[in-house]
Amino acid sequence: MSFSKLGLCNPILKAVSELGYQTPTEIQKQAIPIILSGKDLIAAAQTGTGKTASFVLPLLEKISTYDKPRGRSVHALILTPTRELAVQVEANVAEYAKYLDTSSLAVYGGVDLEPQIQHLKQGIDILVATPGRLLDLAYQRALFFDDLEFLVLDEADRMLDMGFIGDLNKIIERLPRDRQSLLFSATLTDDVRYLADTVYDDAAEISVSPKKKAKPKIEQWLITVDKDTKSALLSHLIKEQQWDQALIFVEKKHSAAKLVEQLGKRGIEADSIHAGRSQASREKVLAAFKSGKLKFLVATGVAARGIDIENLSRVVNYDLPYPAEDYIHRIGRTGRAGKTGEAISFVSKDDFKNLCAIESLLGHLIERREIEGFPVRKVVPISILNYQRR
Ligand code: AMP
Repeated sequence: MSFSKLGLCNPILKAVSELGYQTPTEIQKQAIPIILSGKDLIAAAQTGTGKTASFVLPLLEKISTYDKPRGRSVHALILTPTRELAVQVEANVAEYAKYLDTSSLAVYGGVDLEPQIQHLKQGIDILVATPGRLLDLAYQRALFFDDLEFLVLDEADRMLDMGFIGDLNKIIERLPRDRQSLLFSATLTDDVRYLADTVYDDAAEISVSPKKKAKPKIEQWLITVDKDTKSALLSHLIKEQQWDQALIFVEKKHSAAKLVEQLGKRGIEADSIHAGRSQASREKVLAAFKSGKLKFLVATGVAARGIDIENLSRVVNYDLPYPAEDYIHRIGRTGRAGKTGEAISFVSKDDFKNLCAIESLLGHLIERREIEGFPVRKVVPISILNYQRR
């Protein structure tokens, strides 16, 4: 099937083709016709499936025929959990809208409010926002929702995990009832379904499973390691195996800074992104990593959520993620668009239950490899695959 069969106009087809997209992905094939038909939609799809284009392309198709929004108004609102994702989604919108006269803007916290207020004055077709900043702008009367026709909740499960439910309800209360609403979530948990019930009318539901596609493309392995030798092991692997690049996940922001320092002492240049750094430095570091100038990026799970890095060859779970579903999101950063990637996890004895949960979710054990010179003192037992989280 080609994009031209989906009922999108030529300027959109041209932009998509210039980006090298030859055929629509599964989520795009399913979602685009539903969205064009005007129905509400709930979709289970995670980053890496092409989900962003699956809602942005039909929104652009519709909005390109509308009159311009009035000042301080928007036609479509896309809510995302993190600033990074907001920036990335807006960048995608701008790429897909290259040959249209449609405006877009990303607004998020951690930066000055005033320039965002100024931008909104002229009205924006597609606004991408994090919930807190959006409410600030609404409270300041910098933004009104009378012209709003579309609401998209992107990564809804993550927004709930991050405690945005109160903000989301406050935003939704302010929106016109007569609108089309779309929800995208990596998993459709009970909480997400409850949220969807309050927001959507008779929504169509679709699901694309990333697991089948992800498995052959990502080589997953783990090393059992004592906590106090983790940074030495990481440095060893980087040097021994001559890693070209790695996105390294840690749980806490202070461990990110510490690990950067430990790597530095062993002559490995790394940098970090986490919630404790300013938006400007996070963007700078991310740009350096994306361009290949920075080879090793240490990130907390939240900061790196949804970040799309083309050709990323390797992710490392320096700390094993919790909950288990986050493991799938993280390894989804590599091995994208048909390329092979590597996902390596460091597992110490305290992680045993979490490892059981992850391997049970995957439905298989992750291959264990031993690294010479790093024997473990505290052995991690082999998981039982029917682990139930309590
Ligand atoms: P997403 O799931 O939206 O984060 O998209 C993942 C990656 O797939 C992004 O780098 C997109 O540019 C890319 N992509 C989206 N749709 C297609 C497509 N139909 N063909 C090839 N690449 C695509």
